[in-house]
Amino acid sequence: MSTHVYVKFLDKSEVTGFLQQTLDPDAENLGLLIADSQEQRTLALQDICYIKFYGAPSLAESFNDDEFFEDVYTVTDELFHLRLRKKNNSTRGFYGYPTDLTSDYSCIFFTVKGLNRRRKDKPLGEFLWQMGLIGPDELNEALNDQKKLRSRRLGEIITDNTDISQATVDETIHTARNDARRSQLRVGDILMEAGLVTKEQVEEALALQEQGKRKRIGAILVERGLITEQQLLSALARKFGLRVVDLEQSPPDRSAIKSLPREIVERMQVLPIEAGPGHMVVATSTPTDPTISENLHFATNRRIELVVASASQIAAVITSHFETLEDSVEDLIENLDELDVIIDEGHELETVTETDSKVINLVNKVLIDAHKRGASDIHFEPSMGTQPLKIRYRKDGLCYTVHQIAPAYKAAIISRIKIISKLDIAEHRRPQSGKILLMHNKQRIEYRVEITPTVGSQEDAVLRVLSAAHIFPLEDLGFTHRNLSAFRSLLTKPYGIILCVGPTGSGKTTSLHSGLAEINAPDRKIWTAEDPVEITQAGLRQVQVNAKIGFTFEQALRSFLRADPDVIMIGEMRDTSTAKTAIGASLTGHLVLSTLHTNNAPETIARLIEMGTDPYNFGNAMLGILAQRLVLRLCDHCKASYNPSPAEYEELVDAYGRELFTQHKMPEYSADLILMKATGCNECDGRGYSGRVAVHELMINSPAIRKAIKQNLSVDDLREQAMSEGMHTLRMDGIQKIFAGETDLRQLNRVTT
Ligand SMILES: [Zn+2]
Repeated sequence: MSTHVYVKFLDKSEVTGFLQQTLDPDAENLGLLIADSQEQRTLALQDICYIKFYGAPSLAESFNDDEFFEDVYTVTDELFHLRLRKKNNSTRGFYGYPTDLTSDYSCIFFTVKGLNRRRKDKPLGEFLWQMGLIGPDELNEALNDQKKLRSRRLGEIITDNTDISQATVDETIHTARNDARRSQLRVGDILMEAGLVTKEQVEEALALQEQGKRKRIGAILVERGLITEQQLLSALARKFGLRVVDLEQSPPDRSAIKSLPREIVERMQVLPIEAGPGHMVVATSTPTDPTISENLHFATNRRIELVVASASQIAAVITSHFETLEDSVEDLIENLDELDVIIDEGHELETVTETDSKVINLVNKVLIDAHKRGASDIHFEPSMGTQPLKIRYRKDGLCYTVHQIAPAYKAAIISRIKIISKLDIAEHRRPQSGKILLMHNKQRIEYRVEITPTVGSQEDAVLRVLSAAHIFPLEDLGFTHRNLSAFRSLLTKPYGIILCVGPTGSGKTTSLHSGLAEINAPDRKIWTAEDPVEITQAGLRQVQVNAKIGFTFEQALRSFLRADPDVIMIGEMRDTSTAKTAIGASLTGHLVLSTLHTNNAPETIARLIEMGTDPYNFGNAMLGILAQRLVLRLCDHCKASYNPSPAEYEELVDAYGRELFTQHKMPEYSADLILMKATGCNECDGRGYSGRVAVHELMINSPAIRKAIKQNLSVDDLREQAMSEGMHTLRMDGIQKIFAGETDLRQLNRVTT
C-alpha cells in the first residue's frame, strides 16, 4: 500500500497523492501518484515546504527522553503544534508528530527551506509544576505513566495520581498557555514597536482594561483616538506577515461564509472569505490570538489561513449575512431531496468537515431514515483509529447496526449533530444534552440528543426519536376480550384512579393515551402532564413538565385542580406527595390516570402503601391497575407453523399454571396442535420478528380487593384474590398469545418471570 500524502510547496501551491517510494529526505526528488488525475509526477524536494502523511495521529510511538514540544511556523504562514525528536536524522529537514489527536495526519516532514521559525511549547507537566500544583516526583511519575499509557493526555494522568481536580488542571493549562502567549504577542508592544503609540499610552490602556472594561488593548487605543483602526490593522498584519483585506471593497462570497457554522462565526467574530476543500481563508481583527486558527482548524479540519480585517467590517458582514439567511433547520430540510450518500466501510482518508454537504446529507438521511423505520433511538458510535463509525438503531427494544461510515467522517458527523442540536462543538470532554427539531413531510420530529465523551478522545451521540406518535385505538393494543371490555368500563367512571404500570418502554403512555382517546369529547375537560409529550391529541390540554425549572408533575397536578378538570393524566407518580395529591384528586370527583414503575398489579398496591399513601384512601380511589409489557411479535410475513414437542408443551402449561390451564380450557396436546416460530425474511431484516405485542395484567377493584387493601394484606394474598375474580397474570396473558401464534416463549421469558 502506498502512503497517502499532502504536499505543500514553498509557493503555497499544494497537491495530494501517493508516495511511490519511502520518503528519503536526502534524495533530490520524490515520485508521487497524483490523487485526482492518477498521473505520475516527480517533485523536486527543494520546492517543497512540507509533506503531511495522512492517517490517525497516535501517541503510540515512543520517543522516551528524546521528546519535546514545539510550535512550528512555516514560510507558508501555517502553524503546527508538534512533538519532535531531539535526534534529527537529516540535515535537509525534520519530522514532527501532531499533539492533537484529532489531526488528520499522523506525521509531517518539514524541509529546512520551508521552516519559518520554531517556538518551544512547554509540556503541560512543566506548567503544572511551575504553578506549584504538583511536585517534581509527581511530574516524573506522570511522565512515566504517560509512556505506559500513550493514548492518554498528560493532564488526565496527573489527575488520577494526585488530589487536584481535572478542573484545576484545565484552568492551569488555560492560564499558563494564555500567559505564555500573551507575553510573546502583546498588541501594545507591537504598536510601540511600530512607533504608533508610547509606552505610557499603552500602560494607560492596560489600566483601563484591568478596571474591567473587557475590551482589547487595540480597541481601547482606537477608541481613545490614539491610533486609527487602519493603523492598528496594518501594524498587526505586518507583524504577523498577513494580508489586510477591505471587506467593503471586496465583500466575501456567500458560499464561503457558509463554510463555517453560524455559531462559530458569531462567537469568534471571524469571517471565512475563501474556502476550498482542504483550506479556508478567514478574516479576523485579532491575529494576536493564536487560539483562533487553532480552534478553526479543530472545528473544520481544514488548514486555516488568517487575513486581517477591521472588527467593524467583520461584524457588519456577519450581521447582514445571517439576517437574510434562513434557519439552519430549513436548510436541512431543503437538502433532503438530494439524499444519496452513504459511505460504507470505505477507507479513504479525505478530510471532511461538518459543513461538507455530504456530511449534512448523511446526518439528515440517518435522522429521517431512523424515523421512517420506526427506530426509537439512534446510536452514533465512533471507533478508535481507522475503524468505521457505527450507526445502530434501537427498534422494538433491541439495537442493531444499520450503517458503517468511513472513519474520516466521524468527527464531522458528531460536530454536525452538535451544531443542529445547538451544542458547543468545541467542548469534547464533557457530556452535553440538546435537542433537534425538524419537519419532514409536514410531520414534526423531535430528537433528544445526548453527547457522551468516550475513550480515545471520541464522542458518542445517542438520539431518542420523539416522533409525533399516532394514537392506537384500544382494540388494537392486543387486549384480550375480557381485558378490553373491563378497561373500557373503567374509563367511563366519573372518578377514581386508573394506573398503568411496568418498566420504561413498556408502552404505558401509549395505553393511557388510547384510553383518553375513548373519552375525549367536548363535554369533558382533560388535562395531561407529561415528560416528554410524545403523543398529542386534539381536545386534550397537554402540559410538558420541566424538572430543570422546577415545574414538576405535582405542580402541574395542583394547577390542574384549580383549572376545572374532569379527567387528569399525570405522566408518572414519581414521589409520595404526587401520589397522595393524585389519589386525593381522584376521591374528589375527578378521573385520574397515571403510571408507576412497578412490575405487576398487586405489587403496585404494596408499593404505594410503602410510599406512604393511606391504604384506606387508595382502596376507595382505585378503579383498576393495568400492568403491561411489550414482547416482540413474530413477523407475519415469515413465521412458520410447527407442532411443538410434548416437552415444549408441558413447559407452557407449567408457565401458565397447571390447574388454571385446565380450568381455562387451554388447548390440549395433540399432533395437530400448531404453534408459530420465527424464520426471518426481508420484511423483518432477517430477524423473524417485526413490531411488538402487549401482554397485560388487569386488576379490577372489587369489594373483596378493597377490603384486602385496607387490611394491608400481602402481595400474594392480593394476587390470589384478584385471580379468583378472573385476573390473568402477565405470564398467563403472554402464553395465550403464544397459543394464538403472535409470539414465542423465548420472547415472553425476556420480559416476565
Ligand atoms: Zn419476516
